[in-house]
Amino acid sequence: MEHQRKRNLVGAGPEEIRDILAGLEEPGYRARQIYAGIYARRLRSWDAFTELGKPLRERLKGRFSLEYPPVLRVFESKDGTRRFLFELSPGQRIEAVFIPEEKRDTVCISTQVGCAVGCLFCATGRLPMQRNLTTGEIVGQVLALEEDRAAAAKRLNVVIMGMGEPLLNYDNVMRAIRLMADGGGMSVSPRRITLSTAGVVPGILALAAEPVVPNLAISLNATTDAVRDTLVPINKKWNIDALLGACRGFPLESRRRITFEYVLIGGVNDSPIDAHRLAKLLKGMRKKVNLIPLNAADSISLKPPDPERVLQFQKILIDRHITANIRRSRGADIAAACGMLAAQ
Ligand code: SF4
Repeated sequence: MEHQRKRNLVGAGPEEIRDILAGLEEPGYRARQIYAGIYARRLRSWDAFTELGKPLRERLKGRFSLEYPPVLRVFESKDGTRRFLFELSPGQRIEAVFIPEEKRDTVCISTQVGCAVGCLFCATGRLPMQRNLTTGEIVGQVLALEEDRAAAAKRLNVVIMGMGEPLLNYDNVMRAIRLMADGGGMSVSPRRITLSTAGVVPGILALAAEPVVPNLAISLNATTDAVRDTLVPINKKWNIDALLGACRGFPLESRRRITFEYVLIGGVNDSPIDAHRLAKLLKGMRKKVNLIPLNAADSISLKPPDPERVLQFQKILIDRHITANIRRSRGADIAAACGMLAAQ
C-alpha cells in the first residue's frame, strides 16, 4: 500500500521535476539529472541514479516511483511484431504494438482506454470508452516497448494510432509529444512522431498552432459524407469538407506531407469512382495515401476488399500523381494489425 501512495515521475515534465526538487531544497542541476535519467537513460529504479548520492536517492525512493504501465502479456507474431497488453488497473487494458523493420523500429501506442468514436471497421471502437490515459501512461508505453528493442541504434518511429482518439485527450497527448520530442530526454524527432485522428477538427486547428508539431495522419476512409457518416461517425459533427479545410490550413515544413489513411472495405468504399473522387478531394494538398485493406476481425461484419480492386484503386491514384502505398498488414496473426486492437 505504501507503494501506491508514491507519485510516479514517469510523465512529469522538466518544470514539474524542478519544482519537486526545489521543494526538497535540492539545486536545479539535480532536477536536470533526474529528468535525463528518466527519459534519456531510461532508468527504472532510484538505485540506478548513482550520481545523486545515497541520501537523496533514499528520500526520492520514499516518495516517488518510476513506473511504466504494467505489462500483462506480450503476443509475438511470426513476422516479429509484438503486441503488448498492459493492465493499468483491473478491467482497464490498453495495447501497444512494436513493429521491427530492417532500418527502423516503429511503436504504435494508445491514448485512451477504449474509444468513444466507434468507427465501424475498428475492433477498438466496440469497446466502451473508459478514460483518457495520463501523460505518463502514454510515454510509458514507448519506454516500456523500447526496453525490448534488440538494436537501440535503429531509428525509432512513434505512431499515435492505437486505441483511442488522441485529439479527444488533447492536453495529455500534447504533453507526451513534447516529452518524446525533447532533445534532452527521449529525443524522438517530431518528424518521426505521427498522430492519427479520425477527424476532430478543433483538435487539428489547435495542433497546427503548437510549438512542437508531429506528422498528421487522417483516417479518412470514405469520399462521400453519406458513407463516412456510417464508417467514421464523428463525420456527422465535422464533415469531409470541414476536415479537409482544416488539413489545407495545416502548416507543413518542407518535405512533410499529410498522410491520409484509407481502409478499403469490400463493396463499401473501394470502387474506381471512389478512387477518382479521392484524388479530386485531395487535389492541391501535399499528401500521401495509405491504402489499408480491411482486416477480417471476428467482431466485424464488413468484408475485406478484393485484392484486384485494391490494386486498381492504387493505380488510379498513382496515375493522378498521388503517392499511394498499400499497407502490408503486420501482426495480423496476433490481432495487432490496424483496427484489431481490442484488448483481448
Ligand atoms: S479507428 Fe481510432 S477513432 Fe476509430 S474507433 Fe478505432 S480507435 Fe477509435
